[in-house]
Amino acid sequence: MTGVIETRVVPFLDLAPVTREVRSDVMARWARILDTGTFVGGPDVESFERAFARYCGSAEAVGVGNGTDALHLTLRALEIGPGDEVVVPANTFVATVEAILLAGARPRFADVDPDTLLLTPESVDRVATAECRAVVPVHLYGQVPDMDGILAVAASRGLLVVEDAAQAQGATWRGRRAGSLGIAGCFSFYPGKNLGAFGDAGAVTTSDVGVAARLRSLRDHGRGSGGHYSHDRLGTNSRLDALQAAVLEVKLGRLDVWNESRRVLVDRYREALPESVGRLVVEHPEASSSNHLAVLRVVDRDRCRDELASRGIATGIHYPTPCHVMVPYAAYADGPLPVVEANASRILSLPLHPHMDVSDVDRVCDVLTSLVGGSA
Ligand SMILES: *Cc1c(COP(=O)(O)O)cnc(C)c1O
Repeated sequence: MTGVIETRVVPFLDLAPVTREVRSDVMARWARILDTGTFVGGPDVESFERAFARYCGSAEAVGVGNGTDALHLTLRALEIGPGDEVVVPANTFVATVEAILLAGARPRFADVDPDTLLLTPESVDRVATAECRAVVPVHLYGQVPDMDGILAVAASRGLLVVEDAAQAQGATWRGRRAGSLGIAGCFSFYPGKNLGAFGDAGAVTTSDVGVAARLRSLRDHGRGSGGHYSHDRLGTNSRLDALQAAVLEVKLGRLDVWNESRRVLVDRYREALPESVGRLVVEHPEASSSNHLAVLRVVDRDRCRDELASRGIATGIHYPTPCHVMVPYAAYADGPLPVVEANASRILSLPLHPHMDVSDVDRVCDVLTSLVGGSA
């Protein structure tokens, strides 16, 4: 190897090429919005909501301020609150659990499958109580869990299924899109997600017209049909703005191409990494991942991460601390969760973004293989 190749930096994520692709289309849409002055709500928001609902195969999409509000307001729209419990995997971004508490309900933490690191029907069944009203399967890393099994357990236990699809724009379960599988699908469009805004944004997809109507009211100060100053319920301000909606609609047209590019790169990671280095999380055979993250399990994770960093390769950890041991949520923990706990110190998210060069994937794999000394 030459010194030039060895010192080449591999960023964990690079948003610039994605932004470059959509820049001129976005600028044209923004110019029209600046001319009309319709900054909150209006035709750009409605047009994106229709396009995103159609993309996901849901009757409606309701734009909100961010993914956390998508989850929190969905639980409130389903009238889940004080006295209720909600099943949630402990290995998720904190927002999933935060939303349950913001709605006034209590989390019931569940363990996950050792291959996919996702909720299983059995793990839901094991922790569900008589107080449970809902389960939130998290499509972590863009992967969809066994939704047929989870929907069946939910039906037998009387639980509503609210998907946390924040990382799963475009993922499918048996050909049906994430977000259209439960009563509602909650999305974040934080800039780093597969479909990302130029700031904070989110949406809820649902085919339940009642839920959609309550969400439209909740995101807008509890407004009712009686006019601008009629407030029927306790709401909040969590609206999607027109500038972000325009970005999202332009980007939605390219999402499948970007997701396909992620798939090719993750397939390359799978081919190029010997088993002795570690194993990438496994995709359920009936599901198609959005490949939001490429997550490897390695024994000596922190050393690997430091060594990669010293060679200019940036990695992430999603997430270093399971929610049930975090200070604000530990009171809701109910016994150990062995799979979640064992994996927290092994997971390592490798560089991945749609415009990443395949030679950079090879370089990451070469360095990892040399560190573990596994290829011989
Ligand atoms: C990003 C994310 C959220 C929260 O979305 P925000 O838009 O940041 O509020 C919730 N759940 C998961 C799994 C996420 O990755």
